[in-house]
Amino acid sequence: MSQRTFSIIKPDAVRNGDTGAILAEIAKAGFKIVSIKKMSISRQQAEGFYHVHAARPFFGELCEFMSSGPIFPMVLEKENAIADLRKLMGATDPAKAEVGTIRQKFAASIGENAIHGSDGEDTAAFEIGYFFAGVELK
Ligand code: ATP
Ligand code: MG
Repeated sequence: MSQRTFSIIKPDAVRNGDTGAILAEIAKAGFKIVSIKKMSISRQQAEGFYHVHAARPFFGELCEFMSSGPIFPMVLEKENAIADLRKLMGATDPAKAEVGTIRQKFAASIGENAIHGSDGEDTAAFEIGYFFAGVELK
């Protein structure tokens, strides 16, 4: 059954000019792009998005980074989308990411790691709603 997930091309990848190449990887892996837009978010909006990490020592750094430049939030669809996108992204730390994954190819560090992907059905639903209105999701 088809499933939706949420992803962000993060500011480091956008700055490096890797947006097109990352979208090509996503398309090659069989995902349909339901919706995508380019935007910048405030520090406060980044804090709301990553609220589950509020107690972590890297929270400030993470929210500073996510609000440091344009991003591409998007909604993706395919069978088993949530797990398959996580696999395609690779490990959080690019040094530990499998060869051929997006983070292995495009990310420089654990903090600046090119792409976000929802980690479960509940987080996908929250994250899609955080960035997209119903009329943007056909
Ligand atoms: P994401 O949620 O962005 O898809 P993830 O699920 O692989 O990444 P999380 O544990 O949810 O990893 O952490 C969220 C983000 O916080 C990471 O993608 C990374 O940008 C940042 N982060 C995680 N761990 C660290 C760390 N030890 N130092 C700095 N930043 C970190
Ligand atoms: Mg996560």
